[in-house]
Amino acid sequence: MRELEERIRREGIVEDGDVLKVDAFLNHQMDVALFEAMGREWARLFAGEEINKLLTIEASGIGIACLAARQFGVPVVFAKKSRTRNISGDVYQAEAPSFTHGTVNTVMVSKRFLLPTDRLLLIDDFLANGGALEGLIALADQAGATVVGAGVAIEKAFQPGGDRLRARGVRVEALARIKAMSPGHIEFC
Ligand code: 5GP
Repeated sequence: MRELEERIRREGIVEDGDVLKVDAFLNHQMDVALFEAMGREWARLFAGEEINKLLTIEASGIGIACLAARQFGVPVVFAKKSRTRNISGDVYQAEAPSFTHGTVNTVMVSKRFLLPTDRLLLIDDFLANGGALEGLIALADQAGATVVGAGVAIEKAFQPGGDRLRARGVRVEALARIKAMSPGHIEFC
């Protein structure tokens, strides 16, 4: 998606450790019009797939998933990273390594909100090693739900997550795919 690539080129900052900072429009300040355009693109790509729910992970997936959900006309469920008083009753749980924090999160979703009849589109901001999406897939599997595919904003294609998920048969649609990056330089696929 050209518009997203241009924003990454203009405002993205490559940090040490293969981290791309896009907090001017995605991870801190949020360009909602851009999110809306991203949602339209996923809706076009996954048209006809009878998706009935979007599943994402807190925190940065939530904003983009909400705008995408308006295009699909479906609700968003987000996996929580810690058990709070806001999550009650039976939950599905999975381990998801955090790329940016170098820790492992236990992610969870209330059993009430993932059903065997669900046809899910997974949404996240970045795809790096694939741990976050694999955690979401594990939650969906526990519920017996169908994962139709994954929509990610930015795939760092030089990291193994995208290949790993596609090898498992997951349809991954990334709106910007980065082939290589270093401070001051970003190359798209
Ligand atoms: P993965 O689980 O695929 O290794 O990493 C994806 C998750 O880590 C995303 O949810 C995202 O929040 C975070 N992440 C991975 N790489 C980057 C990056 O380069 N920049 C930012 N801002 N977040 C990233």
